[in-house]
Amino acid sequence: MNRDTILKIGIQMQKKIISSLLVSTALLMTACSDNKGTTETETKAAPAAAVTKTVAAPEAAAQAVAPATSEFDYKLAPKKVADNVWCFFGALDKPTPENAGNMANNCYVKTGDAFVVFDTGPSYVFAKQAYAAMSKEVGELPVKVIVNSHEHDDHWLGNDFYKQKFGAELIGPSVINTKYKAGDITRMFKVLPENAIAGTNIIPVDKSIKEEYDFTVGGINFQVIPVPVKAHTDEDYFLFMPESKVLFAGDLVMNGRITSGRDGAVMGQLKALSMIKAKGWETLIPGHGFITDKTATDEAQLYFTLTKDRIMAAIENDVDATEINEVVTLPEFKDKKMYDILNSNNVSYAFDEFDML
Ligand SMILES: [Zn+2]
Repeated sequence: MNRDTILKIGIQMQKKIISSLLVSTALLMTACSDNKGTTETETKAAPAAAVTKTVAAPEAAAQAVAPATSEFDYKLAPKKVADNVWCFFGALDKPTPENAGNMANNCYVKTGDAFVVFDTGPSYVFAKQAYAAMSKEVGELPVKVIVNSHEHDDHWLGNDFYKQKFGAELIGPSVINTKYKAGDITRMFKVLPENAIAGTNIIPVDKSIKEEYDFTVGGINFQVIPVPVKAHTDEDYFLFMPESKVLFAGDLVMNGRITSGRDGAVMGQLKALSMIKAKGWETLIPGHGFITDKTATDEAQLYFTLTKDRIMAAIENDVDATEINEVVTLPEFKDKKMYDILNSNNVSYAFDEFDML
């Protein structure tokens, strides 16, 4: 080996070491910033793993970092709402490229040996990140059963994640199977950014019900209750835990924002609310909204009652479809989110419903 060659090798080695150090530093910085707010143990563990990876193969390590930054980050943090129950609360908004469909609520129940999950969010990526966040919070349990509240796709497009990873049983309305199939471009596929919807597949549910269905997972009992009439949609389910009196209402209940009546019926909504009330729940998680205490259903009860009373009175006074939005308003709700977008449509839908009676 001559002097030149030795010099070349020396320079190359120096370059390699410098680039390794640069990547290590970058990884350390990423690892630290990603771990903000987590426990000390986790923060310490991450940089160590990153350094090992970098020394072994700098290029591979640099590539491995890339997908993590390109996938949409929902920044999910579970909130505990009752014993063994955590939820991810979505924004009080329509789906937008910015929220990537994170505008509905999705909940986890921890049982003795597994999770039961109510609704699965707007995408595969969402479900994956929700599971990761829950695992960090309470441990990596398998997900055994999923219950879907209704057919709107902000509530169940995460199903495939749980089916693929755990073979979870999917309990949900039969319309999910009759109206949607793999490859369909539903609302979330149109609105969500590519890095949030990528990998999302429509799969059928395994079990639909017409009557109450009870099951037990890890020593905790659950009741799935179908609403026998059109309420928020043609087929709505709610889930009740009889021992702890926690009720997952899906979109039969919203608070803080106005509901969307495009697929629903006011009379069915009122019936569903009375079925929910009859359960004697103590904690209720709405499909959209943050209120879970004893007042959780108050807004929904008032909204549908006022809508019904005012529209029936208007019809009584021969108000027709072209005038109904001038005559019937719900000023009590004007400060709630989405009032301007949804309320006058809701009044029109309700007019059609009561006009046919
Ligand atoms: Zn919804």
